[in-house]
Amino acid sequence: MQELIPTNGFMPNLWEVSGGLTERAWVEIDRAALAHNLNQLKQLLSAKTQLMAVVKADAYGHGATMVAQTALATGAYGLCVATVEEGIQLREAGIDAPIVILGATNTPEQVRAIAHWYLQPTICTPQQALVFSDTLSRCQTPLSVHLNIDTGMSRLGMSWQQATEFVQLVQRLPHLKLASVYSHLATADSPDPTVMRLQHQRFEAAIAQLHAANIVPPCLHLANSAATLTDPALHYDWVRVGLALYGLYPAPHLHPKVNLKPVMQVKTRVTQVKTIPAGTGVSYGYTFRTQKQLRLAVVGIGYADGVPRNLSNKMTGLIRGQRVSQIGAITMDQLMLDVSNIPDLQVGEIVTLIGRDGDRQISADDWAISLNTISWEILCGFKHRLPRVVV
Ligand SMILES: *Cc1c(COP(=O)(O)O)cnc(C)c1O
Repeated sequence: MQELIPTNGFMPNLWEVSGGLTERAWVEIDRAALAHNLNQLKQLLSAKTQLMAVVKADAYGHGATMVAQTALATGAYGLCVATVEEGIQLREAGIDAPIVILGATNTPEQVRAIAHWYLQPTICTPQQALVFSDTLSRCQTPLSVHLNIDTGMSRLGMSWQQATEFVQLVQRLPHLKLASVYSHLATADSPDPTVMRLQHQRFEAAIAQLHAANIVPPCLHLANSAATLTDPALHYDWVRVGLALYGLYPAPHLHPKVNLKPVMQVKTRVTQVKTIPAGTGVSYGYTFRTQKQLRLAVVGIGYADGVPRNLSNKMTGLIRGQRVSQIGAITMDQLMLDVSNIPDLQVGEIVTLIGRDGDRQISADDWAISLNTISWEILCGFKHRLPRVVV
């Protein structure tokens, strides 16, 4: 092995010499695709509806700050996150757009942080509203809060039948300003609209009750990506779009509605190539044995990077536009490929695990189908060990 000895007292920048962030394995983020998706989605909205970019979970693994900046520059009105920490991270990055916290926050410490960073919480219960109001008692400007109404998701929020009481209570409390009333749909990605229609009706009934009590919420919102693609009647004042922004469809039947481009690609490099004879076991547990002589490539990505071990012997990669099969158990930091169809493959060549290479493409949906899960979970699964490289 070549020794790296600094000459002239100058330490070479090994990072740059070796190709930097794309040396081993990385997540590539296509900023233009993100802007394209946002523009496509905006075309579905009427003039009164604003798009809220959902950037929780580090923007579904894409990098929250970059996604937030791009979305806002492309016309998103504001951002939705899940936790206080996610909101603070965006504020620390210098983002001053409205940030709504979709998750529940219940402690005075959380309330103080929310107020300090001008975040906008979701209030789900009267008890929570009281904690906020009590904690904020010495605060000057009222805090904008969003009330979550449960119309059938059975997650956060007060029952839709209690919406009026709940809103009236919050309106009576000092230091809180009603910014919106919203709900969340449980089955918007299903081809069967029955439950979604029922939730829509309940949301409408809650609004009608509010109107009857002379309350007109300044903003209403109900739609996630699937509902945004499904029906303009669900759009109201804001749509809260996550998955579609990242270029994936919530369900196959929604493909014709809009042209989306995947934002994320996952790539790695070949670290060794070898030929192994027939009858050779590959990787831990020998879950794969060669039938005939085989050309094998080792690549530098594994389950510690977010490639699920359950994809062992079930996934493929793309090299030089050709499809190659993954073989043997996926290990923590490495996995093996059968590259017999590319006999002259070299160390350092790029393998695309999710993304496009030539005419071929592997999507997060392909992984989700193999794993019996959803693409949301695949996108969120890539660890921070993989650098995010914006192209
Ligand atoms: C995550 C989330 C969304 C976004 O859902 P997508 O299906 O990714 O568009 C919208 N609203 C709430 C309340 C959420 O928790």
